[in-house]
Amino acid sequence: MRYSGWNVITEGLLGNKGWGRAWRDPAPKAEYDAIIIGGGGHGLATAYYLAKNHGLTNIAVLEKGYLGSGNIGRNTTIVRANYFLPGNSEFYSHSLKLWEKLETELNYNVMHSQRGHIILFHSDGQRDAAVRRGNAIVNQGDDAELLSVPQLKEMLPYLDYNQTRFPIYGGLIQRRAGTARHDAVAWGYARAADKLGVDLIQNCEVTGIDITDGRVTGVQTTRGPIRAKKVGMVVAGRSSQVAAMAGMRLPIESHVLQAFVTEGLKPVIDNVVSYGMGHFYISQSDKGGLVFGGDIDMYSSYASRGNLPMVEHVMEAGMTLMPMLARARVLRSWGGIMDMTPDGSPIIDKTHIDGLFVDAGWNYGGFKAAPASGWCMAHLMATGATHDVAARFRLDRFRTGNLMDEEGTGSQHNLH
Ligand SMILES: Cc1cc2nc3c(=O)[nH]c(=O)nc-3n(C[C@H](O)[C@H](O)[C@H](O)COP(=O)(O)OP(=O)(O)OC[C@H]3O[C@@H](n4cnc5c(N)ncnc54)[C@H](O)[C@@H]3O)c2cc1C
Repeated sequence: MRYSGWNVITEGLLGNKGWGRAWRDPAPKAEYDAIIIGGGGHGLATAYYLAKNHGLTNIAVLEKGYLGSGNIGRNTTIVRANYFLPGNSEFYSHSLKLWEKLETELNYNVMHSQRGHIILFHSDGQRDAAVRRGNAIVNQGDDAELLSVPQLKEMLPYLDYNQTRFPIYGGLIQRRAGTARHDAVAWGYARAADKLGVDLIQNCEVTGIDITDGRVTGVQTTRGPIRAKKVGMVVAGRSSQVAAMAGMRLPIESHVLQAFVTEGLKPVIDNVVSYGMGHFYISQSDKGGLVFGGDIDMYSSYASRGNLPMVEHVMEAGMTLMPMLARARVLRSWGGIMDMTPDGSPIIDKTHIDGLFVDAGWNYGGFKAAPASGWCMAHLMATGATHDVAARFRLDRFRTGNLMDEEGTGSQHNLH
């Protein structure tokens, strides 16, 4: 059934008995034209665009848990296109454009809210960097605007502007940036892909990748072997483990990133705000909780829970920036496993094995990337050619040295 205001009203009046399941629960077939490993945002988007843009519908998404159980349902939901480096810049710009039409495209309310994302700066040097970044964003065709302290005070009256260590000098806003409901993005892509005939197979862990004479022939799963000539590895924090099934060693480390939400409060934070002197970002969810996070836990791990030193660090950064946070009570915290590359930029590429593709290395910025990642991965898997906006996300850049270090922090996974 199509979702519409009319149907919501009619169903409300008729006792909501007419809604069907959002997607089917098919048994795996013996063979597909293509298989996507991983039912997160990127895997589901890849499947959807393979079907929608390339007419490939005999495909399956294999998910070891339930759809949306990974990072797609764990992130702090920030969507923006304010990247600086060529390569990243055009890709995230493309993604934001897809976000702007996503709800109509999927016929699903992903609660995309363009409430503006503000990066604060706290020194003359940081102001110069913000101006430079702003100019790069505008040159890319997206929006960026410098905000003075009086402007900021009007928009964000709750910040501590005169802290002695890190006084606020101004901010860079992207008004088209904002947030979306994270798991709704997985559900929206899932429902739309299912409608186009894609098999979404949950509780189906891939345990092996079959390769004959340098060519992929299928996968082994907890629900039996499945043949396919094309296989996409789209498993975020588990990328190294799944690639190892094909004998590959990826330039990726897995790290934990935590997030926090407070009890529901009346509207107080209208935008997404990022602190310039500490790793801290915050927004308010539509339910009223303040959703915030900081840095990764800094050592590699596959445990999707965090540790106390980083909790303390995030709380300190938040309190320094907005002392009012002391009055809020934290309701929940959780962690997700990040696929960190040494330069902080992602990979969408073929591998040396024929028919085996990889989409990984999203670090902690892959939520906003989901639409463009799916779009470009689908293009690559369907045509064999790299999409223009993902042209620099090559696996061999770690060999050639053609890195994209957006943060400028050097070749260490945990620093990005
Ligand atoms: C706390 C936190 C905050 C974040 N904040 C932001 C943010 O504000 N903005 C932003 O842009 N990004 C953010 N991110 C990053 C973003 O969530 C991720 O980069 C992105 O979701 C990763 O892609 P995905 O959705 O496909 O991953 P996932 O949802 O993790 O999907 C991968 C799937 O693969 C499955 N899988 C793994 N191994 C196998 C196997 N062997 N067989 C079958 N299936 C398998 C997993 O179960 C999982 O469901 C954040 C992440 C976290 C954890």
